[in-house]
Amino acid sequence: MSEHFFGATGKFPEGKLNADDEGELQLGIANDGQKIIVQFGTPVSWFGLGPVQARDFASLLIHHAHLVEQAGKSGVTIHILHEGRALCGFTNKLPGDWPQDQLWVSSRENNVANCAGCTERFKSSGE
Ligand SMILES: [Zn+2]
Repeated sequence: MSEHFFGATGKFPEGKLNADDEGELQLGIANDGQKIIVQFGTPVSWFGLGPVQARDFASLLIHHAHLVEQAGKSGVTIHILHEGRALCGFTNKLPGDWPQDQLWVSSRENNVANCAGCTERFKSSGE
C-alpha cells in the first residue's frame, strides 16, 4: 500500500464545493484479511462525492467486505484482475457474472490472490 500516494493533491478537478473545500483527495481502500482499511493520507473532516464516485466507493467497500468474509473459506479462488478480466483467463465473463466462489483483487493486491494461474502470469509479466 505504501508505494501509492494518498492524501490531498492540491487540485480541484471538479471545482470548489464551498469555502472549506481543500481539494481533491486521493484515498485508498484495501484489506488486511480481517478489516477493510480506508487510507486518507491526511486528516480529513469531510469529503464530497458525485453519484458515480459514491457508487464506486460503495462498491469498493462491498468488494473488500466480501473478500474479507470469503477469503478464508475453502473452495474460494481469488484471481488477479487485469483490464477487467481474470489474468488466468478462466472465463471471458466480467467479474459481476462470475460464480460466487470466484473473487478478484487488483494487481496492487496480488499478494491476496490464491489462483495459481493468475499468480504465475502476474509474476512473469514482470511487475
Ligand atoms: Zn485466476
